[in-house]
Formats: sequence, C-alpha cells, structure tokens
Amino acid sequence: MFGVYIHFPYCLSKCPYCDFASRAEAIIPQGRYTEAVLLELRSRQKEFAGRAADSIYFGGGTPSLWDPDQVGRVLAEVRALWAVAPQAEITLEANPGTTDEARFAAFRRLGINRLSIGAQSFAPAQLISLGRKHSSQDAVRAFETARRAGFENVSLDLIHGAEGQTPELAARDAALAVALGPEHISCYALTLTGLAEDVPMAKAARRGEIELPDDEASAEMGEAVREQLSRGGYARYEISNYAKPAFESVHNTLYWRGGEYAAAGCGACGFARRANGGRRYANDRSPEKYMERVEQTGIGEASSEDVGSEEHLRERLFTGLRLAEGVDLADLERDLDLPVRQRYANEIERLVGEGVAELRGSTLRLNQRGLDLHSEVSLRFF
Ligand code: SF4
Repeated sequence: MFGVYIHFPYCLSKCPYCDFASRAEAIIPQGRYTEAVLLELRSRQKEFAGRAADSIYFGGGTPSLWDPDQVGRVLAEVRALWAVAPQAEITLEANPGTTDEARFAAFRRLGINRLSIGAQSFAPAQLISLGRKHSSQDAVRAFETARRAGFENVSLDLIHGAEGQTPELAARDAALAVALGPEHISCYALTLTGLAEDVPMAKAARRGEIELPDDEASAEMGEAVREQLSRGGYARYEISNYAKPAFESVHNTLYWRGGEYAAAGCGACGFARRANGGRRYANDRSPEKYMERVEQTGIGEASSEDVGSEEHLRERLFTGLRLAEGVDLADLERDLDLPVRQRYANEIERLVGEGVAELRGSTLRLNQRGLDLHSEVSLRFF
C-alpha cells in the first residue's frame, strides 16, 4: 500500500493539549506554503517513483483553512506525480468553525471524498476544558454542512479524559456522535505524555491548576464510549477507531499495515521501503523553517533514519496488532525474510494462553481485552 500525506500546520488557535506541528497565525502564508509543498512533492517523487496511491490525506493543523484553490493545486500535483487509484480515499481534516458550505463544496468538487471533523466533544464544559474555540452546535453544523456538500464518508473525532468528564458524559458524547450517523468515529483518550509533556495543559496539571481524570477513570470512559459505539453499529477495527462496514480509514490502515507513504509539509513524516527495511524521514516542525528549508534544498527534511529489517519487524508487529484484523505472520515472514513464528513461538503461546490473543491459521490477532492492553502486550515482542 502507498499513500501521500500532506500537512497543513495552521490553526485558528492552539489547543492547550496539542503536540502536533500546528500554529495559530493571524495571516496564513497560503501561496508561499503551497509553493513549498509543491516543490517538496516534486522532490519526493524520486524516492517513491512508480507507486500508485491508495490514499491522499490532508492533515494538520487545520487543512480546512487552506484555500480550496491551493488545495486543488496540490492535488493536481500529486496526480501528476503518481498514479492515483480510481477509488482512492482522499481525506481532508476539518475543524468546526472553519467550515462553510461553499468551502466544503469546493473541496468536494476537487475530488476530496472523505472529511474528518475534529468535534472532540459535544458538551460545552468539555470543549472549554479542552480549550476548543468552537461550540457543540458548530460541530453539528460542520457535520450537516459536510453532508449538504455531498460528502458520503465523514469521520468524527472525539476525545475523552478531559477535566470534569465522567464515563456518563463520555458515553453521551459517543451517543450524540452515533446519532449524527457518520461512517467513521475516532475516540482517543487525552494523552499528555511524550512530546505532549510540554504542552500548556500538561504543565497546568503538574502545577495542580487542573485535575485530570486518573487512568482508571479514563479507562472507564473508554469502556463507556465503546459500548455506545458498538450499540450504534460501529465496529472497533483499531484500538481507537470505529467504522461502519467498509468505511475503515484506508490511510491510517496503511500506516498500521506497514505501507509506504510520501509526506510533504511542515512536520510531516514519510516512510519508504528499502529491501527488508526502509527509510523514515521527518520534516521541520516550524512552518517558517520548513519553508526556508524547501526553498533552499527542495525538501523540508530535518531528520531521517534507516530502519533495519529487525526494527521494521517490531514496528510491523506493534502497529499491526493495533488492528482487530491482526497480523498475518506468514505474510510478514515472506515480506521481511525473517522466521517470525519460530522466533516468537513462546510469546505467541503465552499471549494465547493468557486469553488476550488468538492464532487462527497464520494470523495473530488481539481480542478486545488484548486491544485494551496493546502497549503492554506488544512489548513482549521487543
Ligand atoms: S485544532 Fe487540532 S491541530 Fe490545531 S491546535 Fe487544536 S488540536 Fe492542534
């Protein structure tokens, strides 16, 4: 599988929990940023020559703030550089409050066929604790606008674990999302680790200015959300992602299955296969520095690493086990030329014995309990 990821780093305001490469700017340099992305896409083509894209993804930041004309130029460039499958999924992330019907209709006319809307919550108090600038009505309006503009594949994002949230409130958010009837729902627990340790919300929590639900309460919220989504007919196809049949996200599944992705834009990360491993690169996370780098060198790369076959194997197991479909170990052996089943025979037996995984044929998959314990379970392979 191959996809193209394009990052648009600008937002209306910076949310206090956000560790993405994103920035609030009063004036977005639409033309200059587009030129940089176009230049980088042309440079990246060589590394991904001859691939056909199953997916194109505009992520952010808030790409719904990108002028449709500029998005059209980027899409045209992607289509000129790579074959794009006729049924390719073409997604654009949108935030409530950055949407109007003319803009959504323009995105639809460009061939974008999936919108991912960052609703996060429908409860006013939760939106305030998350520092979101939109109202719950804005989120509903964004969804309805997407439908009116002709989008038949819409995803809603929810976050649970904000200050003051309870399992009942989390369940209510999920029920309201289900009632709207999107094709896909992502439900993430608020996480303030890793890069997010330095975001304002994490600092406020450390200073005791806000009190976030503990892990146990957050897990209860996750359970309450899952129950609502399952009742609404959404299958949990990945730890935090739910879909109606045939509406699983092609782009994210490509990441989890170990596919390749060309990436352009500030903060974007790409991965190209090489023999049994690959090369991963990450672009500069500062929009200004990104544009300068591209203008000087043609790419925005700030770092890169070679991924050996052993490391790629561990990544494939780690990400593949996030999926309810699991990992076909025989496929993995053929792909990486490594004796996966023989090497991990003890670990696999233990996971099955502990009742968190099943091995059917050559496919190892985690059950619901295993998915909840994914990090712990997949560490056994490290
Ligand atoms: S809108 Fe999204 S990308 Fe922008 S600051 Fe908020 S969470 Fe981050």
